[in-house]
Amino acid sequence: MKITIVAGARPNFIKIAPIIKAIEKKQNDGAAIFYRLVHTGQHYDKSLSETFFEELNIPQPNNNLEVKSGSQSVQTAAIMVAFEQELLQNSCDLVLVVGDVNSTMACAIVAKKLNIKVAHVEAGIRSGDMTMPEEINRIVTDSISDYLFTTSLWANENLLKSGTSKEKIHFVGNVMIDTLYQNLNRITKPAFWDEYQLELENYIILTLHRPSNVDEEQSLQQLLLGIDILANDKKVIFPVHPRTKAVLGEKKLNFKNIICIEPQGYLAFMYLIKNSFAVITDSGGISEETTVLEIPCFTMRENTERPETQSIGTNTLVGIGIEKLTEIYTSFLENGRRESGIPELWDGKASERIIAILLTKN
Ligand code: UDP
Repeated sequence: MKITIVAGARPNFIKIAPIIKAIEKKQNDGAAIFYRLVHTGQHYDKSLSETFFEELNIPQPNNNLEVKSGSQSVQTAAIMVAFEQELLQNSCDLVLVVGDVNSTMACAIVAKKLNIKVAHVEAGIRSGDMTMPEEINRIVTDSISDYLFTTSLWANENLLKSGTSKEKIHFVGNVMIDTLYQNLNRITKPAFWDEYQLELENYIILTLHRPSNVDEEQSLQQLLLGIDILANDKKVIFPVHPRTKAVLGEKKLNFKNIICIEPQGYLAFMYLIKNSFAVITDSGGISEETTVLEIPCFTMRENTERPETQSIGTNTLVGIGIEKLTEIYTSFLENGRRESGIPELWDGKASERIIAILLTKN
């Protein structure tokens, strides 16, 4: 079986790493399974792309479509045009896409229109928020995929409700968590740890990159100044995403606690998360990682497509703006951590399950 694997953005790279390892393991066992890796070039900054290939030992892509930035439609169209050429020149039996970025949807459509089967990893999650480009990408990708690999039974239900036939849906667990377990013994203290005098479990990690939090300069500044006060005596380590950096510009805000740094590689970032007091974020992936690492996570969004991180894990939705965050964080300081657990099948073996299923069906 020949699989073309697509990855375009930071969270995609983290998700494909264990899938490639699972394929290579089967190859070593003598299975006739081959892959070709296509990087769409949606994320091209070294700190969001190359670093992850190096740290997670992902092989160099066989093709980089180098689409780079653009409006939603310009980027999606550019990926489709380039990926069609890729598939016409390099035949395969299956295209495997992960997550919910533009590359995911664009490549799924191209493959399907060429009558190639599509596997979607992380299928079925829904925020219900159609203003998020990711939600549109999820719905379109799921509606045309042949294999839908899910992280929860809730995702299975969403797919069944939308009319997907049961035979296509496979609850396998979470590939992002495979990567976490595969690398926990490799996480590394960042070089700036001593420089900033960080102490175990006594600092906060902050990440923000969603349009609802970062696209309006005034609100973003107010939010950051509010978090700076809320942190009180704790340092706040803030790896600034390029999108957020573009809005903040070169202007230096006068923070007491917040320390702005470059986006971190996976190994340093996971070290920072694992040893933090709490995390404030608008990332979906980070709410999953904090759940497994049992670190309190406050998500600056009105909704989540990963409700199990709230109902089972350590995640709390705090909406947009500083008010609700202040209220909920203050109550957390008074009452301490609540009990949490790890969702079913988030055990580090999702990628192996995916490859085993694909091998039996093809
Ligand atoms: N991440 C990282 N370094 C950082 C910030 C995030 O390695 O400085 C990782 C993080 O651990 C998670 C992934 O990037 O695995 C999440 O990416 P992002 O927040 O961009 O995407 P989302 O999860 O919101 O789709």
